[in-house]
Amino acid sequence: MDPVKVFLDESEIPRQWYNILADMPTPMSPPLHPGTGQPIGPDDLAPVFPMNLIEQEVSSERWIDIPEEVLEKYLIWRPTPLCRAVNFERFLDAPVQIYYKNEGVSPPGSHKPNTAIAQAYYNKAFGIKRLSTETGAGQWGSALSMACQMFGLECRVFMVKVSYEQKPYRRIMMMTWGANCIPSPSDKTEAGRKILAEDPECPGSLGIAISEAIEDTVTDENARYSLGSVLNHVLLHQTINGLEAQKQLEKIGVYPDIVVGCTGGGSNFAGLCLPFVRDKINGKDISIVAAEPTSCPSLTRGSFAYDFGDTIMTTPLLPMYTLGHEFVPAPIHAGGLRYHGMAPIMSHLVKEDIIEARAYDQIETFDAGVRWARTEGFISAPETNHAIAAVVQEANRAKEEGKEKVILFNWSGHGLVDLAAYDAFLSGKLTKYDLPDDEIQKSLKSIEGLPKP
Ligand SMILES: *Cc1c(COP(=O)(O)O)cnc(C)c1O
Repeated sequence: MDPVKVFLDESEIPRQWYNILADMPTPMSPPLHPGTGQPIGPDDLAPVFPMNLIEQEVSSERWIDIPEEVLEKYLIWRPTPLCRAVNFERFLDAPVQIYYKNEGVSPPGSHKPNTAIAQAYYNKAFGIKRLSTETGAGQWGSALSMACQMFGLECRVFMVKVSYEQKPYRRIMMMTWGANCIPSPSDKTEAGRKILAEDPECPGSLGIAISEAIEDTVTDENARYSLGSVLNHVLLHQTINGLEAQKQLEKIGVYPDIVVGCTGGGSNFAGLCLPFVRDKINGKDISIVAAEPTSCPSLTRGSFAYDFGDTIMTTPLLPMYTLGHEFVPAPIHAGGLRYHGMAPIMSHLVKEDIIEARAYDQIETFDAGVRWARTEGFISAPETNHAIAAVVQEANRAKEEGKEKVILFNWSGHGLVDLAAYDAFLSGKLTKYDLPDDEIQKSLKSIEGLPKP
């Protein structure tokens, strides 16, 4: 029998992260200060992030050492297994081998602690006492809560109020890990108080929660802000996964033809694919496919432009594929994919035709996810189902073309805290949503006056 799982010994865990900025074939446009329109410098970010992470954000060193303290925490669940989806292959009946990295084995159940652990460590090393962040459905908030607890930092999470009330389980995870989880809008900040004065019943939004977390940070010199995706240093920390995958595939003498992942802000997919992007830049023939939702199609239907990272225009301007910072995606169940923009690194690679992007609607993604559960057993996060839908499409294409293919994808997390979404799908309550063009055109108006990359 061929191997179904490939493990690495703990001693084989990668000791450095890979920084794609050392190998980009063309230069990326810099982030800009929204006031001056000039490239931002490290000092502009100092009230929000610790200087050691800012240095990583702008670094072009190819390899960055993973501190021992971070490796020690990674070893709680890493290296994660590389698995072959033999049962799913049989169901698809196509000439493909399908391998996946199981990032669902981490304590919070996704890839997110790969960066949460690193960020908590660097903030602690810089002398910071408390981290503040926002969370929508709670994946990021729960990962950061665990990481802060492990490094003795206080953690404050502003959680969109409607999720706080309707999705209690991730809130309970955060509280179990010792974080202070606050429904947003709250009376803890000026921004929150202003909104509550106008509308005491306001259900909240990610934009409001971000503004509360940033205000909460800049008004306390012992606090810093933490972001779970999009930024260069976040993608850097995630590359441990792709580097592990390369070692694991090497052990069985396999190299993928196609690498697939789902993209919200771009971090889990970047973590798997960037080491393979390096190979592609160096001449390997490999397809790299990003799967996003049709309801929030930043890569497939957005503009490559400078835009704010948040709805309320407080962040630097980032060069990225965006639907406009005022874009409000439909309330699909893949909450982690409802972001108006895309990581500048991933955006640049799509613009350079190194990565291709495709969009899938939530019916086809849940259909793929349920097929997966009925063959491989594991119940995937709704976000992850987008990657599985892309794998199905690639397998069908290989069958039509009669070509053998090796597919590698990132199983970014399990869906055991998202069963309500499966309930909605199984009872026929999910609908296909086609985003009209004029809605995109309307929301892109919000970036019209901004500088162009
Ligand atoms: C948050 C999340 C995503 C999307 O975020 P990226 O930064 O694009 O990775 C995907 N899958 C899971 C399981 C998540 O929790």
